[in-house]
Amino acid sequence: MAVDSFAALRDKMVTEQIERRGVSDPRLLEALRTVMRHMFVPDDLQSMAYDDCPLAIGSGQTISQPYIVALMTHLLHLQGGENVLEIGTGSGYQAAVLSRLARTVHTVERFAPLASRARQKLHALHYDNVVVHTHDGSLGWPEAAPYQGILVTAAAPGPPPPLLAQLAEGGRLVLPVGGRSGQTLQVWQRHGDNYADEDIIYVQFVPLRGAHGWSQAHWD
Ligand code: SAH
Repeated sequence: MAVDSFAALRDKMVTEQIERRGVSDPRLLEALRTVMRHMFVPDDLQSMAYDDCPLAIGSGQTISQPYIVALMTHLLHLQGGENVLEIGTGSGYQAAVLSRLARTVHTVERFAPLASRARQKLHALHYDNVVVHTHDGSLGWPEAAPYQGILVTAAAPGPPPPLLAQLAEGGRLVLPVGGRSGQTLQVWQRHGDNYADEDIIYVQFVPLRGAHGWSQAHWD
């Protein structure tokens, strides 16, 4: 498919799936119109990259539905100067979108093959303000903390304490909380040593693993 056709599909995706569902932040819509989602999915799924659904990206993982990427990004309220952390790099697509809206993005992936593929892709496409780390992201990435925004793209049993601790004052943590049968997308905002939390919508994600994630036995 020609680059122009992908651009047309991207425009349609933004209008029909994102704007129509009420996301209206112009900077975010522009980022979604620019980032080439089809470059982040396996070759044989490129023609479906702008469809209204999640897609398999290998290693049993998925790239989220475009609307969910938009909604989670919107909930961070980014202005452009932030240091942001993403847990669950996967394909690298969400990190690429964040990189258009914040100053720096640290993204952590536990699967080395996914991390290295995403790293190469983000480098080739010149997303130079994204750093990919291979690590247990349920521990966050303390080296670059504090973060004005933290996004977790895998289902957690609850907000991991290290992530709450690595939030800057006023910073926001956006994550799906719940188990295999479904989760609630939550926002946790830091006010000193207190955190205000809010439930947004019902979602379905793959599990967060690691020290503050789901063990195989508890998820199944
Ligand atoms: N944001 C991704 C989609 C993520 S799918 C994208 O835009 O494509 C969820 C990802 O979380 C998977 O790649 C999975 O390997 C990763 N993951 C699960 N537990 C993790 C952990 N403890 N630390 C880091 N990554 C984790």
